[in-house]
Amino acid sequence: MSTAARKIRLLMLLRRNGVTDVGVLRAMELVPREIFVPATFHDQAYEDTALPIGHGQTISQPLVVGLMSQALELNDRLKVLEVGTGSGYQAAVLSKIVRRVYTVERHRPLLAEAEHRFRTLRLHNITARLADGMKGWPEAAPFERILVTAGGGSEPPPDLVGQLALGGIMVIPLGPDRREQKVVRFRKTEDGLEREALWPVRFVPLLPDIAGEPARTTVPEE
Ligand code: SAH
Repeated sequence: MSTAARKIRLLMLLRRNGVTDVGVLRAMELVPREIFVPATFHDQAYEDTALPIGHGQTISQPLVVGLMSQALELNDRLKVLEVGTGSGYQAAVLSKIVRRVYTVERHRPLLAEAEHRFRTLRLHNITARLADGMKGWPEAAPFERILVTAGGGSEPPPDLVGQLALGGIMVIPLGPDRREQKVVRFRKTEDGLEREALWPVRFVPLLPDIAGEPARTTVPEE
């Protein structure tokens, strides 16, 4: 089966499973997922499955990317923070829909590979940095949308809540352990945070420090 045919099959699967937002479907049609997976998995790039990307991390299942993007209620005026760049695929999908994407990763090699992909695909509205994403990106805050693509804890990190704009939406997997995680959507209103549990999910853990690296802030930009 050709790549184009596999892609159409995947898009139909997404639609059948509740991804109806036209902007999200279009973005997922535009972004070549094979660029974001290791060469050995190229033939599975358009299967609806998470795949290993090294360092114990995974590129999320396309349906999860579609549903989480849709849950963010996106449009082209928004500035979005993503925590957990990983392969860069989710950031690339967001970049096709919103004005600007800030994405944070704690693994230096993963970040370097993701940045290389952003350049190759000329996704110039994405800015990436090596840091602990739980602390957000204070200089670029507030964000109208925040997406966390690693899971854990029962409450969202306070710094992220602080950096969410009034009227903004945060989507984050929460739960005491991997078997009980749920994607939760928060809306920041004048009266505080509204919380809405969406569906069960399993993400790799959100971890505080940068593995094997001294604390640092930004990666030099080109
Ligand atoms: N969004 C990614 C998949 C995320 S996998 C994609 O589209 O491919 C989760 C990622 O979160 C991993 O790469 C992991 O290293 C990263 N991560 C975990 N805790 C983090 C933290 N505190 N700050 C930044 N990144 C973190």
